[in-house]
Amino acid sequence: MQNITLNNGVVMPQVGFGVWQVPDDEAHAAVTEAFNAGYRSIDTARIYENEEGVGRAIADSGLPREELFITTKLWNTDHARDDALRAFDASLSRLGLDYVDLYLMHWPMPGVDKYVEAWQAMEEIHADGRAKAIGASNFTVETLTRLLEETGTVPAVNQIELHPYLAQKEMRAFHAEHGIATEAWSPLGQGKGLLDDPALTAIAEKHGRSPAQVVLRWHLQSGNIVIPKSVTPARIKENLDVFGFELDAAEMGRIDALDKGKRFGPDPATFNWMG
Ligand code: NAD
Repeated sequence: MQNITLNNGVVMPQVGFGVWQVPDDEAHAAVTEAFNAGYRSIDTARIYENEEGVGRAIADSGLPREELFITTKLWNTDHARDDALRAFDASLSRLGLDYVDLYLMHWPMPGVDKYVEAWQAMEEIHADGRAKAIGASNFTVETLTRLLEETGTVPAVNQIELHPYLAQKEMRAFHAEHGIATEAWSPLGQGKGLLDDPALTAIAEKHGRSPAQVVLRWHLQSGNIVIPKSVTPARIKENLDVFGFELDAAEMGRIDALDKGKRFGPDPATFNWMG
């Protein structure tokens, strides 16, 4: 497994396993499958409503806690300081853990404008040692800039929608400038159409790999952390088997050229959903 060292020295696997849209009663099986395949990093969130299933899989795995990297996220209804502290305790208890490796603010919701207060609460949690690192998710240059100006902790990561159809050049440059690791959500473009792109299928055929593996390889060689999701055992394995081949500069360039600013998820500049 390749790792990325975050800006506070915490080491994070570059490939993790995402569990969005995995129901709680299926999370145990999916996460167990992922552990057996060799994943050690799991990305969940309070809003995914599967922290308990993830927690049971962690407990049943028998894996030493220090080998695991567990991420969960603060939901949008809990940005007020006391709500954030309570929400974190509840997540930790559902996961059955006494710390998480990474706690993310799920969305900044600039229209609600409480993300600075939420970040300060996350700084308290970090200071307690109950989150080894804290980070952002779906932050824009504008919302990150404000965080950097008004608080004391540079986010360890910013987890954003990122795949060949949405290459996020501006965000990646901003992250690099400020020592923030780029973590890609929906790294496979949710499997919707992207994986049938002729440029990707041609490169995949040349390497005897799948288009999903080519996309993940592009992410790794671009320096992104990825958290592909699947509940299909063969795909769970396939998505981690991305270290035995390399894309050359021309292939990387061809994939870079697929960028068309296409989002599958909401635009974080205008997303203020409190549901
Ligand atoms: P993804 O890009 O990982 O795509 C997952 C889908 O692609 C699967 O449901 C399946 O249909 C398909 N797929 C997976 N492996 C495949 C393979 N090898 N071959 C062919 N098809 C394959 O999409 P995602 O689940 O949206 O994103 C991954 C993770 O990112 C989530 O599970 C979650 O943890 C995280 N996420 C975070 C946010 C956020 O706001 N922070 C938003 C969305 C997702």
